[in-house]
Amino acid sequence: MKVMKFGGTSVGSIESLLNLRDIVNAEQQPVVVVVSAMGGFTNQLLAMCEQAQQRDISCLDTLEAARQRHHEAIDGVVIESMRDQVHATIDRFIDESLKPYYLALATNPHMPVDEIERVCDAIVAHGEILSSAIVTGMFEEGVPHLSLNFMRTVPDGAGRVLDWQETERLVKDDFASMDGGVHVAQGFISRDKATGAVTNLGRGGSDYTAAILATLLDAEALEIWTDVDGFMTADPRTHPDATVIPQMTYEQAQAMCDAGAKVIYPPTIAPVAMKRIPVWVKNTFNPQAPGTVIVN
Ligand code: ADP
Ligand code: ASP
Ligand code: MG
Repeated sequence: MKVMKFGGTSVGSIESLLNLRDIVNAEQQPVVVVVSAMGGFTNQLLAMCEQAQQRDISCLDTLEAARQRHHEAIDGVVIESMRDQVHATIDRFIDESLKPYYLALATNPHMPVDEIERVCDAIVAHGEILSSAIVTGMFEEGVPHLSLNFMRTVPDGAGRVLDWQETERLVKDDFASMDGGVHVAQGFISRDKATGAVTNLGRGGSDYTAAILATLLDAEALEIWTDVDGFMTADPRTHPDATVIPQMTYEQAQAMCDAGAKVIYPPTIAPVAMKRIPVWVKNTFNPQAPGTVIVN
């Protein structure tokens, strides 16, 4: 079994989603596909939270544009027999969940700070919830999983960390019968172990979700599908002369991630390194490129 994580740009357009479909369909073994929100949507969801708190309900126009974007993607990639259902799912989450949350923020000037935080955490989880509904609908054999059912966090100082024990128990239960099929789960999102409130693993955290699943399910490999040809000597956006590093050790990758190489979220490396699971960094837009493998 293999865990394949697709980032925001990889699920951000019809073209990239069709590449994702071909990449996954080429696999012979069972796969767990972990998806990010459609590129830019997480930022939009958070910007709309700010707007709503300023009582600026033009955030609802941005929400309508996002609805349109998701519906267009569905028409472009979801298998025909599933389309109506996926369209309805997107509308349901927008109308019955996101809109009421934004209206609550916009119309309640006395909302306590911790309640605002709770609502914004619930809002931002919708990026991955919506994208995963689309990706599941692309496969005849798509099996949906809800990461909110098995990823558990606990407070840790000002932030939060994964509760490995509880997450392991729940993941093993949720993925107990994995014969074949394309299993699709959301990156990034989780729940607080004690309260059940929606939480997340931090910005860029979908890589970490994929590493956690690969580790707990004893995957043969973790593949991080993104928008560059591999782990490079520098960020190609700022260093056009950067080149792909064909092979790295976990320690080298960890050091570069800690130093700011955004291509992999830093907490991703440790769990897979512990189990010696190879990590591939590959380009959804150029799948033939050999990519980078991170090994012991
Ligand atoms: P995704 O949405 O797929 O998770 P990210 O934007 O989080 O993608 O990470 C990919 C981006 O990381 C690349 O587009 C690139 O600009 C940036 N990046 C920074 N440092 C590196 C590096 N050393 N190697 C490759 N990409 C890097
Ligand atoms: N969608 C989340 C973010 O933009 C998580 C991720 O993409 O990894 O931070
Ligand atoms: Mg990323």
